[in-house]
Amino acid sequence: MSSYLKTQGIVLKEAYTGEADKVITILSKDHGKMSVFAKGARRPKSRLVACTQFLCYSEFLLFKGKDMYTISSCDVIETFSKASNDIIKLTYASHIIDIVYDTVQEGQYAAKELRLLLNTLYFLFNSDKSPDLITCIFEIRYLCLLGYAPYVNSCINCNEGNIKNIYFSFKKCGFLCNKYECLLQDSSAIKLLPGTVKALYHIVHSETKNLFNFNVSKDVLEQLKSISNRYLKERFDKNYTSLDYLKKLKTTDLNGTDSKNPDN
Ligand SMILES: [Zn+2]
Repeated sequence: MSSYLKTQGIVLKEAYTGEADKVITILSKDHGKMSVFAKGARRPKSRLVACTQFLCYSEFLLFKGKDMYTISSCDVIETFSKASNDIIKLTYASHIIDIVYDTVQEGQYAAKELRLLLNTLYFLFNSDKSPDLITCIFEIRYLCLLGYAPYVNSCINCNEGNIKNIYFSFKKCGFLCNKYECLLQDSSAIKLLPGTVKALYHIVHSETKNLFNFNVSKDVLEQLKSISNRYLKERFDKNYTSLDYLKKLKTTDLNGTDSKNPDN
């Protein structure tokens, strides 16, 4: 009976403990969220320095102790560390990690969640795609993984698929057409721009490998953001505030970087 466990995982949180140790929380493919003890990881020469840092993705060999797992050895697979001095991208990453941290349980098989997270971080740190768009794509697709996919195939009320003017209903969690009796279902439904309709359909239905392969106009991005924010807030009953920091940065324009700048 081996007390060792081999798993791949990404660091969601790190906390200091003892004189030079850390307890990290990783998202692992086979066991969901795990708390792992990293002995001596804060010593500069420790072989655990890299693999116990926020956003580092590694293969871990863990030893099952009395209270929690301890890292026996690890091999770094991807660090996402090019971004460590990019405060804006790191803020987006923190927001994304907060959502995953709150929704994955310990002992849960989380292969799909892990894959989406890794893909999202990859695009966030290795492409010049708008971080706002990447975050919207992540949020909506992640909600789909958790079983909260919005209905975007046709009008959720009359099932008409060939519709010109499409509305989004938060109450009904999907598209409504502009027929009187359909809009009566939710008088607060929001009229969507054609680009938003396409983007939502793509995010819900595309294959994982194509998920991030599209761009939108500034207006569509603003609408997508407002839908994604509200949908997330209503499903999770929680306000995620990490990104508020960027609004402050923007108003004071500390570094002149416009994080909303749409990419090519
Ligand atoms: Zn309808």
